[in-house]
Amino acid sequence: MDIITVNNFAKSYGDFRAVRGISFSVEEGSLFAFLGPNGAGKSTTIEALTTLTAFDSGAVIINGHRLGKEDHEIRKSIGVVYQQGVLDHQLTVAENLWIRGSLYGFSRSELKRRIDEVVEITNIGELLKKRYARMSGGQQRRVDIARALIHTPKILFLDEPSTGVDAQTRKSIWEMIRNTQKEKGMTVFLTTHYMEEAKDAGKIVIIAHGEIIDQGTPFELKEKYTSTHVLLYGTDPALLDELRKEGLEAGQTDAYIKVTMDKKEDIIAFLQKYQSRFESFEVEMGTMDDMFIDLVEREEKGK
Ligand code: ADP
Repeated sequence: MDIITVNNFAKSYGDFRAVRGISFSVEEGSLFAFLGPNGAGKSTTIEALTTLTAFDSGAVIINGHRLGKEDHEIRKSIGVVYQQGVLDHQLTVAENLWIRGSLYGFSRSELKRRIDEVVEITNIGELLKKRYARMSGGQQRRVDIARALIHTPKILFLDEPSTGVDAQTRKSIWEMIRNTQKEKGMTVFLTTHYMEEAKDAGKIVIIAHGEIIDQGTPFELKEKYTSTHVLLYGTDPALLDELRKEGLEAGQTDAYIKVTMDKKEDIIAFLQKYQSRFESFEVEMGTMDDMFIDLVEREEKGK
């Protein structure tokens, strides 16, 4: 079942059409990635979907509620972690959580129970007395996420959640998000410029210049826009020429011969045919970065 449906959504700033009638849907409980180069229209879309700003046209339903008409209900259904953060830098983590949590109208005891729970989920128990301003980027991000989870949202919007945090912190933040997602059946709507973060997404939508340029699963998009390489180690000197004569796209480094090949069947047949000519091999798939760069470049050329 789709928890978000966006139909022909558009928004202009004056004469400039930042988002030009995009349509997509997000399945309940999934990790959904919304990607695009700078200036593509991601923030414009997310700000409107999270009820922060108005939009010009289109029909958007979030958790059964119509955007622009039932925004109050939508706000109850979503948690948002904005790039710039919304917490008070001078207050402690505990004070921030209590103040933000009190906006939802829970009783004191219910709010305490919920804060205890999100503190445990995000593993910030030891930070509660620290001032927000005094913490590292990764610690602040954990607190931002805790704040966004207090009312147990059905959908968590993450706008570039790991910008400015180191690789190890990024990994632990993601583990926490994925665990929470599974446990609560929560939907996660992600924008990121770390393409590898989108590799686990159930669906990726890619926009550029305010339009959707493609969408699909990470596998589908990688298959479409990247090549697979077979690396052969420990080959004899004659092999490269032989492969080229066969019409294969092959190159050589000091370490290996690299053959470009896309279809699974071709790779298997190739390895069987030449198995006596190399000592070991590796099949290297394109990365999410390769996919994104190729797709955006194709789109630019097509303009
Ligand atoms: P992204 O988040 O994908 O980087 P944005 O949604 O921020 O893209 O921006 C989309 C386009 O709209 C960009 O060309 C940007 O310069 C323009 N834009 C964004 N906000 C405003 C604004 N408040 N006024 C005018 N133009 C804007």
